[in-house]
This record gives sequence, C-alpha cells and structure tokens, in this order.
Amino acid sequence: MIQPLNLVLFGPPGAGKSTQAQLLMQDHTIDSISTGQRLRDTIAAGTQLGREVEDVMAQGKLVDDTLMTRLLREWLGAIPADRGVLLDGYPRTVAQAEALDGLLSAVNRPLNAAIALMLSDKEAVHRLSGRRICRIPGQPDAIIHIDDQAAVDACLAQGGTLVERPDDAPDSIVRRLAEYNAKTEPLLRWYGRRDCLILIDADGTPATVSATLSAALDTFLRKEM
Ligand code: AMP
Repeated sequence: MIQPLNLVLFGPPGAGKSTQAQLLMQDHTIDSISTGQRLRDTIAAGTQLGREVEDVMAQGKLVDDTLMTRLLREWLGAIPADRGVLLDGYPRTVAQAEALDGLLSAVNRPLNAAIALMLSDKEAVHRLSGRRICRIPGQPDAIIHIDDQAAVDACLAQGGTLVERPDDAPDSIVRRLAEYNAKTEPLLRWYGRRDCLILIDADGTPATVSATLSAALDTFLRKEM
C-alpha cells in the first residue's frame, strides 16, 4: 500500500496557503486541516470556543499554543488512517512544531515534508488589503481581489456581497505580518535543520505556484524514497 502523505504548509498571510491546499488535494489522497478556517467556522457557529478566539483573531494575533495543540489533536484524530493529512496553518510557532512531533507520532504519521510559501511583505499587504469574500446566497464563498474588476462585477451581478475578513483590516494586517515574521518564520530554520523543507516562491498566479509546488514536491519525495 502507498503510504499516505503527511505535509505541513506554512507561509505569511496572503501567500495562498488555502488555495494551494485545495489544489494539492486534487492530486493526492489527502485531507486538509485549515486551522484558520476551522477557527472562523467555530466563530460563525457561535460556540464558547468561537467567543474565546474571536477578538484575538480579529486583532491579527495568534491563538494560544496550548489551545491550538488541543484542537489539532482532536482534528487530527478524525482523519482516517488511510488518508494523508495536509496541515494548512499549523504549526505557526516553534512550540507548536515541537508539539506536532508528539501528536504525529501518537497517530503513527511521519511528517514527509514542510512546504513554505515565500512572499514579500509588500505583496502580502497588497493581496490582503484588496481581498474580499464574494458571498452569494446558496453558493460557497469565493475569494476575489478588488483589482479584479471582472470578478467584482460578476459577484455583484449574481446578487453577491463583498465581505472583508475582520483580520484583513489595515491594523490587523500589520499585526499578522509582524506575528509571522517573529513567530512563524523561525520554522524555516526548524524544518531546514531536519532536511524536510521545500521552499516555494508564492509570487505568481495560483496555477503557476501550484505547478512549481507539485514539481518540487515530486522531486523531494523521489529523493526520499
Ligand atoms: P489564516 O486563515 O491561516 O490566515 O488564520 C487566521 C487566523 O487564525 C490567524 O491570524 C490566527 O489568529 C488564527 N490561527 C490559525 N492557525 C493558527 C495557529 N496554528 N496558531 C495560532 N493561531 C492560529
């Protein structure tokens, strides 16, 4: 049996983690755990947990490591053993990476690779400040950029509304980038030392970044075999 792949995907806000996670899922038998999306769903559901994390997230700060690790243990346990796991947005600190080692070995899932999406702060600010959710009743949310006039017009023409994520407000963007640079970027060295790091230039269209990522992952996995 081919062993399921276990991957970590990280990068600054706006680098396209979730978009690339979706594209990777088309090519691999893998389930993604997007920690940011799961937290937003919890807030939308109005649960106690949602109320606990809402303010922290809106300010662009990271949710507490202990809480995140508890949640991840639960989410990880729900993925069937014959499927791989793609962690989109976890770990975000070295403490979380240390905790992840224990969580993965508890469920007998060796980490195959950590993929880092690389993007300049300038491009990240441009992407995040123009990012909107196109919300059309009865349809899944779509992410668009306000510079893409055709996408804006199509959304409005279908009766959609353009919604800004609370943490895409200017102050939160600055805070999220500062949090990334101070707390998440050290993971480059952490995974680099373990020889499982794949660096990907994320300054391109989703399709070009995805092609680069797939080729780099294939090459990396071939070397490991
Ligand atoms: P994202 O959708 O990945 O941009 O995440 C949105 C927000 O969710 C982050 O700015 C954090 O507030 C929170 N979050 C997501 N994943 C984590 C994590 N692993 N550790 C701490 N906070 C997280």
